Amino acid sequence: METGELSRAMVVAIDGPSGSGKSSVSRGVASALGLAYLDTGAMYRAATWWCLHQGVPLTDTAAVAAQVRGLPLVMGTDPAAPTVHVGGIDVGEAIRETAISSAVSAVATNLEVRAELGRLQRVAIDEARERTGIVAEGRDITTVVAPDADVRVLLTATEDARLARRARDVHGSDDAAAVEATRDQVLRRDADDSTVVQFHVAADGVVTVDSSHLDFDQTVQAVLDVVESVVGPRS
Ligand code: C5P
Repeated sequence: METGELSRAMVVAIDGPSGSGKSSVSRGVASALGLAYLDTGAMYRAATWWCLHQGVPLTDTAAVAAQVRGLPLVMGTDPAAPTVHVGGIDVGEAIRETAISSAVSAVATNLEVRAELGRLQRVAIDEARERTGIVAEGRDITTVVAPDADVRVLLTATEDARLARRARDVHGSDDAAAVEATRDQVLRRDADDSTVVQFHVAADGVVTVDSSHLDFDQTVQAVLDVVESVVGPRS
């Protein structure tokens, strides 16, 4: 069997909390396997950006849901260069700003928003299943969006490891001040998100990969090992 043949229709679902490294690891896994890559967190961030851009108060759940049902969102799924466009605007950088990170849980805990973005995510995954296959990552991909994925992974790390990792990403340092400045983005956001989705404990059939003591390459390899153990070796 050709290398591409086995990976063609594969769906890999990866969930995990903030700072678990799941975005970069998922991109690494997708690149290694020749799969597309879907960052579902970016979809919630894009929805948040759009609502703020439209001047909709995030506390107005009905108005937010209506905006999201009309969200002009285009996700680019190349793992080497994923893109996010809303209404033709490249929001790839804007959605990573602290203002969005701080506000996104208000949108992600809106159940009508979850239903609509979950629907869009299933469409993207089903389309990719017919072509290259895909790695989709987020908070509820293994459990709600794609519980039928071929491979399901929960990527975890200790709280200290996640805080330090996010502090290095955002502030370029993991000293005490940087870690403190990151706490809201990681722990408060996870606590808010946990009110609607469960991503700290693996559901039945989901394999846990703990990255606390692994570097990036080791974590990608650990996930590739899970893929191999589930679907067999690539050859
Ligand atoms: O992964 P990332 O930090 O970019 O996710 C941003 C936010 O999107 C999360 O804090 C969460 O509120 C939301 N999210 C979600 N379900 C997903 C992916 C992300 O609720 N599948």
